[in-house]
Amino acid sequence: MTARPMNTLVPHLTEFMHLVDAEIRAVDEHHVMALLVVSLQRSDRVQALLHASYAQIVQQHFYELIRPSLREKDRFVFATDNECWFLLPHLSSEALAVLAVHRLLAAMSSPLSIESQTIFFHPTIGIACAPLHAQDSFELVRIADQAKKNAQLNNLRFEMAQIQRVERSRPDDLPQAIKAVLDENGLEMRYQPKVDLRSKSIKSVEALVRWPSDHAQVVATNLLIDVAEQYGLIEQLTLQVFNKVLQEAASWEKKGLHVVVWINLSARLLALQQLPKMLERCLNVWNMPASAIGLEITESAFIHDIEHTTALLFELKRLGFRLSIDDFGTGYSSLAYLRRFPIDELKIDKLFVQGMSSSRQDKQIVQSIIGLAHNFGLSVVAEGVEQEETLNTLRLMGCDEIQGYYFAHPMPGEKLLTWCEEFHRTSMERL
Ligand code: C2E
Ligand code: CA
Ligand code: CA
Repeated sequence: MTARPMNTLVPHLTEFMHLVDAEIRAVDEHHVMALLVVSLQRSDRVQALLHASYAQIVQQHFYELIRPSLREKDRFVFATDNECWFLLPHLSSEALAVLAVHRLLAAMSSPLSIESQTIFFHPTIGIACAPLHAQDSFELVRIADQAKKNAQLNNLRFEMAQIQRVERSRPDDLPQAIKAVLDENGLEMRYQPKVDLRSKSIKSVEALVRWPSDHAQVVATNLLIDVAEQYGLIEQLTLQVFNKVLQEAASWEKKGLHVVVWINLSARLLALQQLPKMLERCLNVWNMPASAIGLEITESAFIHDIEHTTALLFELKRLGFRLSIDDFGTGYSSLAYLRRFPIDELKIDKLFVQGMSSSRQDKQIVQSIIGLAHNFGLSVVAEGVEQEETLNTLRLMGCDEIQGYYFAHPMPGEKLLTWCEEFHRTSMERL
């Protein structure tokens, strides 16, 4: 095979992912490769959301800015207007990845001047290395993305993936313990209301899974999902969640509580060919219509295989499920995607919602997401609302539904009925 000269800048995500896989395969025992997920937090994010051609000009300038910090064999791709990924092959240790990150951060600390605009970046970087953290491209991106989110939560500029630490602190038998709980049908469900601001009522709730409360071990939901995904248990888990939710929703119906229940679908499940059939069978067992159920799918699920994902979403929509994009704003999709997918709702990630009180930029992002979603005819939910001030701002911005500790923590199904009754009794005065 003759070597083809390549640019550092890779035009397409799929090509980039192939390159990552090829590099992972090429890693030898003396080297590692690093993958960086960089959230740019551009000061002009709002303009970029609105004007695609403008975004391209900025991307070109951005590339010129960072190019001197890259080696010839490094690769770089724009995952979205606001996020880019780097592939740094053939490093002699993980520490060199951190050095590269310092170099990139230094380059990105200079603002760009384009036409009369000055654009600042406040990047946050997640680092994952192969073979240490993962050995396939999607897993590596997921782990680097998680590290980036942790860095954002902790106000750090970058973070190296912590999967190793988690693995070590994770009891060896956790996958087995999960399997045992699944086999006993032992998972528990909690429900968190979504408050509809216009009608001041509860039209829907989100179902959140919980590790059995009487179990000797304590396992956080994120870890449960993470391990279930890694050990091939997510299908069984989802099936159990579906059956429990449908059973409970059917009993609420009988008691006069009519709410749509939103269920989280793991991105991994979207690859499952028989998913629509599997969900349809559950509906039949409990004699419930698909319209009683909404499916929340995280934004990051959309990068995998666009053609397949689109077809699957249309199939789920055809069956009657409502569809929502979860964690919107953190992931990879641009607003252009919204036109392609048959979705009903956008959920703004709590990172932005909670950032609104201290960051003008987060406020602007939330405002423009609401505006654009409405332009596409979508309903907007803000999650993670804890303070009255945030609620009031969101109401002024025209947000449709609110979810968060301000109104209610996730609660057991038995409590939901009385909680909703109490809410409806007092909501007119309170809201
Ligand atoms: P998510 O879908 O983004 O769910 C929102 C998370 O934020 C939940 O955490 C919820 O309890 C928490 N939350 C709600 N209101 C507030 C608030 O006001 N402030 C703060 N700080 N947090 C709030 P939880 O229940 O631990 O779930 C974590 C993640 O696990 C979920 O994130 C979801 O991605 C996943 N998950 C939960 N249940 C399921 C499930 O049945 N299936 C699958 N595949 N994933 C699930
Ligand atoms: Ca969710
Ligand atoms: Ca979310």
